Amino acid sequence: MGEQLRLLAVHAHPDDESSKGAATMAKYAAEGVDVLVATCTGGERGSVLNPKLDRPEVWENIATIRRDEMKRAREILGVRQAWLGFVDSGYPEGDPLPPLPEGCFGLQPVEKAAEPLVQLIREFRPHVVTTYEEDGGYPHPDHVMCHKVSVAAFDAAGDPDQYPGTGEPWQPLKLYYQMGFTLPRFRAVHEAMLAAGLESPYGDWLKNWDASKDKGHRVTTRVPCGEFFEVRDDALRAHATQVDPDGFWFRVPLSIQREAWPTEDYELARCLVERREPEDDLFAGVRESVCA
Ligand SMILES: [Zn+2]
Repeated sequence: MGEQLRLLAVHAHPDDESSKGAATMAKYAAEGVDVLVATCTGGERGSVLNPKLDRPEVWENIATIRRDEMKRAREILGVRQAWLGFVDSGYPEGDPLPPLPEGCFGLQPVEKAAEPLVQLIREFRPHVVTTYEEDGGYPHPDHVMCHKVSVAAFDAAGDPDQYPGTGEPWQPLKLYYQMGFTLPRFRAVHEAMLAAGLESPYGDWLKNWDASKDKGHRVTTRVPCGEFFEVRDDALRAHATQVDPDGFWFRVPLSIQREAWPTEDYELARCLVERREPEDDLFAGVRESVCA
């Protein structure tokens, strides 16, 4: 028997790990992979998005509540989790956009902000790292920053000349970008809902989707994980302040999701082992060398 495989998923806020790649993590954890979520910020500036919890005492204690929610979600997913200690930038809204709050994650210099992640990579020694693509998957400043620090840390962690004093160098072998929000996926689920005689929640989205900007063609890797969709949803519901249990995210029956799109999808962005695309396993090419 070789070494245990290790997967590190870097996320911006508590709850992102349960909506992006959660079924993948639950699947690998169930297979015995050591899975660690790194959460960049505490989600201190998140809103209360569940109307049933929209109360003053919840708003006042949001940082503490979100830590407890994260603990439940990670237990449900069967993963470990570490906080990187940055402060949520909040989602800027308005015209013109207001400046980001002083000291927040989105305003940190990338080189400095990558340091705690480099340290975590050197300590946990993941074989595979996942993060968001360049625009963060959606334009939250913390998601864009999460992408930047993940790439910087992936590239620096193996270099003994960078970030001295943060542990022994360790070079992960693969870096993936989450590719959950693609036109082919939402179209397939939408069509499966209509075929089943159900009302699709995605009609308006699809009408306004700019196909020229869609990233579906960048997907290199589809991880079959339909049997973990329930675990994913349970973990997401554990972030009770962040999601309405009767809302948008839970309108498509799991049977239809499993039939229409039973995978979570990724783009292989960095690869230090032999590339063999298309893939259905984040550890393709890694298993052979690690578990030999
Ligand atoms: Zn987020």
